[in-house]
Amino acid sequence: MTLTAGVLAVQGDVSEHADAIRRAAATHGEEAVVHEIRHAGTVPDCDVLLMPGGESTTISKTIAEEGIDDEIVGHVDAGKPVLATCAGLIVVSRDAGDERVATLDLVDVTVERNAFGRQRDSFQAPLDVAGLDSPFPAVFIRAPVIDAVGDEVDVLATWNGRPVAVRDGPVVGTAFHPELTEDSRVHDLAFFEGTPAERDTAAADD
Ligand code: GLN
Repeated sequence: MTLTAGVLAVQGDVSEHADAIRRAAATHGEEAVVHEIRHAGTVPDCDVLLMPGGESTTISKTIAEEGIDDEIVGHVDAGKPVLATCAGLIVVSRDAGDERVATLDLVDVTVERNAFGRQRDSFQAPLDVAGLDSPFPAVFIRAPVIDAVGDEVDVLATWNGRPVAVRDGPVVGTAFHPELTEDSRVHDLAFFEGTPAERDTAAADD
């Protein structure tokens, strides 16, 4: 089967996310065809979306100017998966506490930008992630922290007691950068394990 993946290509680790989704697909015997999203019109062709890090203020402004914001909302309303990382998570959150970021309110969390410290404070840590059987090498770069978490949100990982990976329906958001290692298990979790509703259906079919 061929999966059509769209990587938002405003800024950030576009090629790394493209590689990670290809690797994750390959472990399922599938092929991922990757489109870079720069303008409106591409998102509707995509089965899954990846929203890389960067600067959430810039990403927010650009997707609004290009009309990509409404397409992303439509993708999620249709129940299709998204993996949003770092600044991507900030953009899909309910509230980022920064009026320069027009959040899409697709993940019912509030976030605080840059709350782990500035660039020099970037770090890597082995992270226990729900659904993975060994720690994930998580790279944090001027990462946001997640503050309030809505009732429907599953917390997949915490660091120092704060949520750093969450799932809200078809959207997985991480404060860290899963595309920066060879380990594609977070991409796998986001796109191949199914949404909770799909898992329920699969369980009911058993
Ligand atoms: N500090 C960035 C922001 O607040 C996020 C950093 C990142 O994506 N690595 O938008």
